Amino acid sequence: MKVRTRFAPSPTGFLHIGGARTTLYSWLFARRHDGQFVLRIEDTDEVRSTDRSVTAILDSIKWLGLDWDEGPIDEKSDKGPYAPYYQMKRVDIYRKHLQQLVAAGKAYKCYCTKEELDEMRFLAQLEKRPPRYEGRCRRLTDSQRAAFEAAGKKFSYRFMMPTEGATIVDDRIRGKVSFENSLQQDLVIWKTTDGPTYNFCCVIDDHLMEITHVIRGDEHLSNTPSQIQMYEALGWTPPIFAHLSMILGPDGSKLSKRHGATSVLEFRDQGYLPRTMRNYLALLGWSTPESQQLFTDEDLIAKFDLAGCQKSPATFDTVKLQWMNGEYIRQTPVDELVTLAEPFLEKAGLKGLPGPDFKKTVALEREKFKLLSEIPSLVEFFYKPVVFTPKAMNKVLEVPGAKQVLLDLAEALKDFAPFEDKALEARIRKFCEEKVLKVGQVFHPLRAAVTGRTEGPTLFLMLEIMGRDMVVSRLKDAAAKLG
Ligand code: GLU
Repeated sequence: MKVRTRFAPSPTGFLHIGGARTTLYSWLFARRHDGQFVLRIEDTDEVRSTDRSVTAILDSIKWLGLDWDEGPIDEKSDKGPYAPYYQMKRVDIYRKHLQQLVAAGKAYKCYCTKEELDEMRFLAQLEKRPPRYEGRCRRLTDSQRAAFEAAGKKFSYRFMMPTEGATIVDDRIRGKVSFENSLQQDLVIWKTTDGPTYNFCCVIDDHLMEITHVIRGDEHLSNTPSQIQMYEALGWTPPIFAHLSMILGPDGSKLSKRHGATSVLEFRDQGYLPRTMRNYLALLGWSTPESQQLFTDEDLIAKFDLAGCQKSPATFDTVKLQWMNGEYIRQTPVDELVTLAEPFLEKAGLKGLPGPDFKKTVALEREKFKLLSEIPSLVEFFYKPVVFTPKAMNKVLEVPGAKQVLLDLAEALKDFAPFEDKALEARIRKFCEEKVLKVGQVFHPLRAAVTGRTEGPTLFLMLEIMGRDMVVSRLKDAAAKLG
């Protein structure tokens, strides 16, 4: 059996953490088994689906570093042997299958209006019954039906669920889950406004696209018995299902906006690396027996399996995510890091300014940041005019003798060569001896004068990277500022 998985987003918003995890697991499973990974756009909700969401979803998946073998190329076109991959381009296919179900007596017309359905739901709530459709139009007599038709009443189509027995979902993660058929409702498969619905299209597409494993969020587990019955009604074998556990925020409630960023592009904009996201999301509901934490992509592909997926909810942990990002930042070659940091440097207005090569300044600060977005504020003093913090000014520079130290240092360094880490350290320590000053009386004003801050990177290497001209002119400028 050739493994084929799919991710089938409804383009009604951004790609969230849950969807990103579903994409990753489906992708990993396909890659692990040398199969294919398909992307399908489920845009049957014409009111809420937008091109903008399609673009955001595709951009998110690409940013995560995942690819798909078949599916959309952009928000208009698609490619692959089972095209089209946009459901609204497949309506004729669905219509044909609807007719098949109607002919077989497995789907029926429902004339209930929205108001009537609302009222039924309201009554069910009052009477503490589950708010499901009780099958009023399933039981219409021929003459009632004829009367509705004669009156030109609008109708939808509903799938006729069996009313007895149970449907077993043999889920790869949850095991066998049994659903009483009598408790399921007859789902609308074709809307009054003339269009197919998710549950119907999903079954037809997964079958026609030869999907072998449907890996998706557990909010769809409750749809699965109806979908399985539709497969049977159409004479098809259902695929294998695997429903992923829910993702919770740190407070134990379902992960949502109020827990912070939830969309993939927000994580990108906060400065997480795609490889961090892949590794972190892989562990959000899956683990190896050894509880391995850091994985290369090859490692993930080699080890990912559905047996390691947990039934219980996974908790989203930003502290762990940041830790992992810090780990990956330190593993990333500095050239690559600078490329990744470019959008952040650009946004902070640092790109194109004269100053040291970013490779040097970013490497110097690399131990300190966990997010790419932290880089600009750590390196900006190399590129922008010095801004003195109140602490640097009041506690370090405006103390008696500091101004003289700056002027003397400027003099001592103006022709000093080689302007390098070790040589600078030796020279400045000697300077302290010559002037009979404690190192703190020299190092502190020096740092404050050239950076405007009281903390920062290791002093002498920083001076080397700044270069002599910048150091000497900043020493003089700071002295001048002290009046
Ligand atoms: N379009 C559905 C969603 O976005 C996908 C459900 C499925 O994977 O079957 O939730």
